Amino acid sequence: MLATKYNLWSIENLQGVDLVFSPLLKEQKNLSHAFTTRKGGKSPEPYGAFNLGTLVGGESGRADALDNRENLRRILALSNSKIAVAGQVHSANVEILDDPDNLPILKEVDGLVTAKQKLTLMLHFADCVPVIVYDKNKNIAGIFHAGWRGTAQQIVVRGVEAMNRQYGCHTADMIAAVGPAIGTCCYPVQEDALQKLSNTVQDPESLIERREADSSARPDLKGINARQLLQLGVKEVDICAWCTSCSSDVFYSHRASGGTTGRQAALVHLN
Ligand SMILES: [Zn+2]
Repeated sequence: MLATKYNLWSIENLQGVDLVFSPLLKEQKNLSHAFTTRKGGKSPEPYGAFNLGTLVGGESGRADALDNRENLRRILALSNSKIAVAGQVHSANVEILDDPDNLPILKEVDGLVTAKQKLTLMLHFADCVPVIVYDKNKNIAGIFHAGWRGTAQQIVVRGVEAMNRQYGCHTADMIAAVGPAIGTCCYPVQEDALQKLSNTVQDPESLIERREADSSARPDLKGINARQLLQLGVKEVDICAWCTSCSSDVFYSHRASGGTTGRQAALVHLN
C-alpha cells in the first residue's frame, strides 16, 4: 500500500509557456492546477525565463515576475480569481483561507487550504517539494511547501489535519500530487537531517539511497511526503519523476545553480 511510484509528467506548451500537470489531478473536473517550468517568460538570466518569484533579481526581477504571473493566470483562465501567495519560511504553518476578498497576511506560512472558488493558491519553489492535496468529496484544496525542514515537521500532515478539522474531510476521499523537486540523485544530506526525516515515516530506509562510493545518504523528499500522506489514509498520490537539479535547464534549482536562480510555482484553484 505504501509503495512509491514515480510518474513521467509530460511538458505541455500552452501559448508559449511550458507547464507540467499531474495526470491524476488533471482528471478532476472541479480542480485546476499547474506546476510551472523556467520556459516561456520574459525574465533575463540567471532568472530566465519564467521566474515567478518576486524576491529575486531586484526591482526589475520583481516586475518581470509579476508580468509572468499575470500571463500565467491569463493562460490558465484564472485572471478573475484572487491570488494568495504565502511567505514560505520552511515552517509547518498552514492557513485556512475562507474569504478571498479579505486575505490575511501570509508571512510565516508554508501551506494554504481553501474551500472557496475564485481563489488561486500559489507557492514558489526551487528544489523544495510542492504538494497539492484535494478532497474530491468536499471539494477542498490544499497546497504545501516541503523542503527538508517542512518535511521533517510533516507540513503535509498538518495540512491534512487542518482540512479534517475545518471541513470534516476524510483522508479516504483525498488524492494528492507531489510535483517536480530535487531527487535522491542530487540530494546528499547530513545525518541530523536524515534522522529527523526518517522519524516521520514507516520503513524510512526504503526512501533513503546510500552510496558507498562517497559515503553519502540521500533522502527521497518526494517519497517521504507521499508516504506521510499514504500513512494517513490518503487514497492515491501521484509523484512527479522530474528532478529539478538534474533538469536545471527545465526547472529552477537552488542546488544546481549555487543559489542564484528564479522560482517556479505550483498553483491550485477550485472551479
Ligand atoms: Zn537529480
